[in-house]
Amino acid sequence: MAHRLHRPESLHALVRDMVVKAGWTEAEAQETADHLVLANLSGHDSHGVGMLPLYFQSLADGNLSPASQPQTRVDAAPFLIIDGKIALGQPNARNAVDRAVTMAQTGGVAIVNLLDSHHIGRIGHYAEVAAAAGLISFFWVNVAGRPPIVAPYAAKEARFGTNPHAIGIPVPGGDPLILDFATSRMAHGKARVALNKGEQVPPGYIIDGEGRPTTDPAHVFASPDHPLGALLPFGDHKGAGLSLIAELLSAGLMGAARIDQKPQKTWVINSLFGVIIDPARLEPDAELRRNRTESYLAFVRAAKPMDPANPVLAPGDKERKVRLERQAAGIPLDDETWSQIVAAARQHGLDAESY
Ligand code: NAD
Repeated sequence: MAHRLHRPESLHALVRDMVVKAGWTEAEAQETADHLVLANLSGHDSHGVGMLPLYFQSLADGNLSPASQPQTRVDAAPFLIIDGKIALGQPNARNAVDRAVTMAQTGGVAIVNLLDSHHIGRIGHYAEVAAAAGLISFFWVNVAGRPPIVAPYAAKEARFGTNPHAIGIPVPGGDPLILDFATSRMAHGKARVALNKGEQVPPGYIIDGEGRPTTDPAHVFASPDHPLGALLPFGDHKGAGLSLIAELLSAGLMGAARIDQKPQKTWVINSLFGVIIDPARLEPDAELRRNRTESYLAFVRAAKPMDPANPVLAPGDKERKVRLERQAAGIPLDDETWSQIVAAARQHGLDAESY
């Protein structure tokens, strides 16, 4: 399917205006635009501006409201537990992580649990926020409010969400390590991008509603034409095990929305469990931390590549490279995704083409 290149600044202004027109504050709109456009710039189109029409559908269906505000349940260092009240996810999670960052800077560690937020986007975003403040972070997230979409290892049907996890390690004076991925072999949003582009996905990522391997991404989206299939977990039993842990840690232990509970509406609910640590409490000498981390990274990156065109990378390298490329060339959006954005903008009296 055809695509067009969009200037990041234009998409940012459009998203910000759409979110304000829909009733959220300037600050909430700014955070949402920052997050979504940075996801596209990082190469994660599955979690970029193409999510906005889904959020607006949630709004139109009465499942997401600008009036929703998070409520703090526990604020007693090192614990921060917030009821997300299904508020708009990007500002909701950013607020929780910012507060946890302040807590960890003060006391050395913070344990944050944001319960029942609307979709919070790219989890690496929050690891980057913590790393920019000089902090190590670990995040586990569940995906509820939707039918299960990832099969447990050895199963013919789904029991999990795509339950992402992210880990960030800052490098003093350098680029942080940011490891961030879904526990499915492919993020559900990437299957949506493939579907919108009319492309197949590689073999080994999806099974159909009968449990048979398929490369057609349509099988992981509800349709009257076929029963819902499933994404497969990454790393067989390893990814499946991590997905199960993410579900229990982020939501299950606290009674937040779980994949096997609550009515299914047009929304995605995320709960996030995070541990944020000040590395200076472990090794106070920042220069030593930098040298130790960089010498190891240099050792890893120096491994002979299988294919010289595909160099050995550390977590976070790829996103930084794509950011530079897309900042210069623009963000590619397929026509289907763009037409969904245009339609959502029109509902709020905005002409997306004029940005
Ligand atoms: P992915 O498969 O693209 O993996 C990304 C990670 O792998 C990054 O840390 C990246 O730096 C690293 N990486 C990529 N190529 C590499 C290479 N060649 N060498 C070394 N490291 C490399 O990610 P994904 O599973 O498709 O997830 C995409 C995004 O979707 C993530 O940001 C995730 O947080 C998000 N997500 C969100 C939800 C939600 O409900 N909010 C659910 C699932 C996924």
